[in-house]
Amino acid sequence: MLNIMLKTELCSKRLIVVVFACTSFISVIRATLVIPPADMNEMIEQSEVIVYGQVIGHKDNYGSINSFRIIESFKGDLLTGQLINLKEYGSRTETEMTMINGDVDFKIGSNYLLFLFQDGSGYYKPQLLSLSVYEEIVYDGQVQFARQESILDMCYLTDVNESLIDAYIATDFKHVLRSGQSFNIKGLPYWDMSDKLLGDRSTKKSTCPRPSHCVTIIGNETQLNGTCNLGNSPSPAKHPSSTFVVKIASSASSDPSQPNASSLLVNAVAEINNLSGLNVSMASPMNQTCSTANCNKVSEVVDTECNPTGLNEIWVFFDDPCDEVADLVNCGGLLGLGGTFAKTPCHTDACGDMWLTAFSPYMVMNNGAGCLSDYNYTVALIHEMIHGFNVNHIAGTCTAIMNGGLCGTNAPNAPNYGITQLDRDCIEWMYNQCPIDESFAGVTYPSNYSDPEFAQNQITATNIIVENGADVLYDAGAVIELNPSFEVELGAVFHALIGGCLP
Ligand SMILES: [Zn+2]
Repeated sequence: MLNIMLKTELCSKRLIVVVFACTSFISVIRATLVIPPADMNEMIEQSEVIVYGQVIGHKDNYGSINSFRIIESFKGDLLTGQLINLKEYGSRTETEMTMINGDVDFKIGSNYLLFLFQDGSGYYKPQLLSLSVYEEIVYDGQVQFARQESILDMCYLTDVNESLIDAYIATDFKHVLRSGQSFNIKGLPYWDMSDKLLGDRSTKKSTCPRPSHCVTIIGNETQLNGTCNLGNSPSPAKHPSSTFVVKIASSASSDPSQPNASSLLVNAVAEINNLSGLNVSMASPMNQTCSTANCNKVSEVVDTECNPTGLNEIWVFFDDPCDEVADLVNCGGLLGLGGTFAKTPCHTDACGDMWLTAFSPYMVMNNGAGCLSDYNYTVALIHEMIHGFNVNHIAGTCTAIMNGGLCGTNAPNAPNYGITQLDRDCIEWMYNQCPIDESFAGVTYPSNYSDPEFAQNQITATNIIVENGADVLYDAGAVIELNPSFEVELGAVFHALIGGCLP
């Protein structure tokens, strides 16, 4: 099991960090705890040797000792053209292997900027493991000194200053080192972080890839890019606008089994309105004229009486007015229904995906549903209303409010009535939301998990477990903050990418 614990901020469009935790062949892993320098100036000051050069070969069978040719020397007495033995912290023999978390595996042919010291045996080593290593890469059309993924394997006792985490434009960084001047962390023309952060990024337009657990009620959610149609395998549907007014049908406006039905609906609407991508409010007055006399189905009433022109309204019916749902038995059975209509023509969303046009969402609560607690009644209202956005059930038990079964174990302590990240991801996907910030706490990504998480600005994660087999991507515009504890199990893959999505 590989444990990664760090508290740091990764603050640049130029930083790409990737952690692969596929280390089954490693026999020993030592955690590395580092007290980082205060900033880049202190790092420069504390280093014996600062050099730029190239790894030209290995000096042992396993590459833990590298032959490094100096191209330019900025500090210390090494000379241009000199060859040094650059040693990695880990070692390997015929029979065993030791790997140090945060150590760098140098690549032959790559150029590096290194902050080194000479150990007792005469070998040169990076002073602070990955923190002392910049690899030269071309990114965004510029030659840059970038951090390596192994920097995420280190554990820091204190926060790491941004100037130590960011990537730098190579020529600018070398210029500062040559000048012998103090590194002006903020405001230097070569490196002004506030300025760089505003630069264009390789951003995604939105969270367009469908999280694999998200399915639609109407249409095949995998067929977004085919010919949009209402045929045998219809395209998925969604509402062109996600701003809605909720109206209670006057003839089905109360529930004899639940006197607080309408105030619980107000709570449910407030909770749904908190979801990124949905803008839902109660009508005033809440009860609006619509007759359910002699009705067969609520959907027909909505279509012909309540909302015949398909306005952006969600119609709510209490007490199963058309008697279309089997009565509950001992508070068991179908609690309610929720759905929407769909039609052509299709509309194209911000991601370029084509959807059938959903309209006239509605929901029905069954008579007798008041046998539920107020809390669970509200859960049921939220669940049915989210169906009205054409979100189908999420597989699993007690993992989401959109699970097929109302999860009794969620109540009464689950926050937000048991709405989880799985629910949020589906709504954000359907309604093209790129949240400004995302925060994940106490999340376990199971072995089959492979969905990305996006944010415009920052992703903050605390108490995370990425289980063996899971493949997790955090992609944010400016900052990815990983707080303890953060655990990537053997065989799991975790990527942190600075890129993000656009609103
Ligand atoms: Zn349902």
